[in-house]
Amino acid sequence: MSARSARRRRAEAYLSQPYVAKLNMAIEAGAIPLIPGAVAHLDVKHDGWCPKLRGGLCRCQPDLEVRWEPTAEVQA
Ligand SMILES: [Zn+2]
Repeated sequence: MSARSARRRRAEAYLSQPYVAKLNMAIEAGAIPLIPGAVAHLDVKHDGWCPKLRGGLCRCQPDLEVRWEPTAEVQA
């Protein structure tokens, strides 16, 4: 297997995780705004049984929580 195909397989595996689609939908719907200059921390809270917690791929429907870093310079 070439390095390129290995990277492609890893990318496909990442994108197949349920929370990635949920995150992308939240961004596209404006539920998680992308604000230039702002810093946001995303907490992905997986279920206790999720393989992601043991180095595998996510199979649960994790809760996503965004925490914004307070900045005085950013206009939301
Ligand atoms: Zn998970």
